[in-house]
Amino acid sequence: MSLIDKALEANRKYAKSYDPSHGKRPAPKVAVVTCMDPRLSDLPAILGMPHADLDVIRTGGPAVTQDVLAELVVSTHVLGSQEILLLNHTGCGFTTFTDAELNAKLSASTGNSFPAPMRFFAFKDPEQNTREQIGKVRAHPWIDKDVPVRGFIFDMATGLMKEVEPMA
Ligand SMILES: [Zn+2]
Repeated sequence: MSLIDKALEANRKYAKSYDPSHGKRPAPKVAVVTCMDPRLSDLPAILGMPHADLDVIRTGGPAVTQDVLAELVVSTHVLGSQEILLLNHTGCGFTTFTDAELNAKLSASTGNSFPAPMRFFAFKDPEQNTREQIGKVRAHPWIDKDVPVRGFIFDMATGLMKEVEPMA
C-alpha cells in the first residue's frame, strides 16, 4: 500500500470524529509565508496560535513569487488576515544549490532539458532573502500600508525566531 493509500485509510477514521463547524468560512488573523520544509509544519506550536488563526502560504525558501503576493492580497483583503509574517529558517535546502546548478543536474539526470531554465528561487543568505521578501510585500500596492509585514529566521538548532530588520 502506498503512503497516500494509507493516508486515505486514516482520513476515513478522521472523518468519523470530524467537527462540521470547520466547514464555515475561514477567518484567519495572520498570513504566514514559510518554507515547504516539513520541519516548519507545526506552526500552531511554533507561533502559539490555533490552526484556524493562521493562513499558511508555503513555497521553497520561501520564495515570495507573484502567486504568493496574490495569495497575500486575498488573505488580507478577502479573508481578513491582519498581519503578515514571513518565516525563513536556518539550514534551508534552497541554500544548498543554485538555480543554474539544479537545472544542469536535472537536465543531465533525466536526459531532458526542456523545462530549463526552471526558477527554483535558490538563495544563499537567509537574512538577505528575508529583507528582500519584506521589501517585495511592503512595496505591493494592494497590501495595505497599515498591515504589519515582519520577517523572521527560525533557528533549527534552538527553535527560536529571530527578527530581521527591513531594508532602510
Ligand atoms: Zn527551507
